[in-house]
Amino acid sequence: MSHKTKRFVILSFLLTSGMLLALVLGYAWGINGLHAYSHISYIALVVILFIFIYILVFFIGLWESRTTEKIIDLSVNPSAMIPYHILKDQSELGELARSVKKLQDQLSKGEALRNQLVSDVAHELRTPLAILRGQIESMYEGAYELNQQNLLPMLDEIKRMSKLIQDLRQLSLAESGNLPLERKWFECNQLLEEVVRVLEFEAEGKEILLSYSPIEEFEIYCDYTRIKQVLINLIGNSIRYTPQEGNIMIHLSRDGGHVYIEISDDGPGIPPEKLPYIFYRFYRVEDSRNRELGGMGLGLAIAKEFVEAHGGKINVQSEVGKGSTFQIVLPIFPVG
Ligand code: ADP
Repeated sequence: MSHKTKRFVILSFLLTSGMLLALVLGYAWGINGLHAYSHISYIALVVILFIFIYILVFFIGLWESRTTEKIIDLSVNPSAMIPYHILKDQSELGELARSVKKLQDQLSKGEALRNQLVSDVAHELRTPLAILRGQIESMYEGAYELNQQNLLPMLDEIKRMSKLIQDLRQLSLAESGNLPLERKWFECNQLLEEVVRVLEFEAEGKEILLSYSPIEEFEIYCDYTRIKQVLINLIGNSIRYTPQEGNIMIHLSRDGGHVYIEISDDGPGIPPEKLPYIFYRFYRVEDSRNRELGGMGLGLAIAKEFVEAHGGKINVQSEVGKGSTFQIVLPIFPVG
């Protein structure tokens, strides 16, 4: 007999005894006519009633415990299912079931993300490591000349891998809410002008017109380096995906509490069915296209996490063949 069943047996016994005692006392005090029953049939009645009430209470108890049992099952076996009627129940147990279900969903989502991350990182590192190994082995065997020109692509691969590790570190810090932010007041136009200066050269290489018209001066309280990184990722993407002689426009505006930065390009756009996934790490709209362009699918994930760490958000609008607009919304000063 399980511990729970034992509890029910004792509880049912106590309840039944209590009820019978009340019944007997009721008779004894003459509330109902005791004289209507013989002594023997009175005892038989009491015994039958006892058994009947006992069984009834026992089954009611078992029936009631089903919900708790399902919830306990769920915490032991993560793949167990909570029946729909329990989840819909408005009682406290229903509420408990909903919280346990939410926790279960979060855990399995976390587990799936972890597995996905490990396989993505392995995938990202496998190719450059294989290339490096091949090249170093060839150099060692004398088949490949050890000179500056041959070492340079190897150095690039190593830099790419270091960046991947560094990006993943930043992402995991941001996702766990532990990203250190060094907030300070700075002028918003100045930041945009600096980012444009950094990326101008790359845009000119593709004869892309990168335009930005400053608005009246105002300050924002953010981590300068992180927001600069966000802008470099977004504008960098626009330059990367917009074809030769394209246009990129940066637009800055503000209202009472927020600043809005919009980056619009007339590049290839993103298909609507892919749009919900572009902020996922390692997600690429078109694997081959991005491989050629050298992206690792982390830029937007990092941008989103950094902006959200500031209490802001990123929106995107895109149309295939027409272009994309990424909008950053940031609180001028974080509240709460
Ligand atoms: P990547 O390093 O591959 O650029 P990102 O996370 O920065 O990764 O972007 C995810 C995907 O979103 C890109 O691979 C690309 O397909 C798509 N994307 C991002 N920005 C743009 C843009 N401005 N125009 C078209 N596609 C874009």
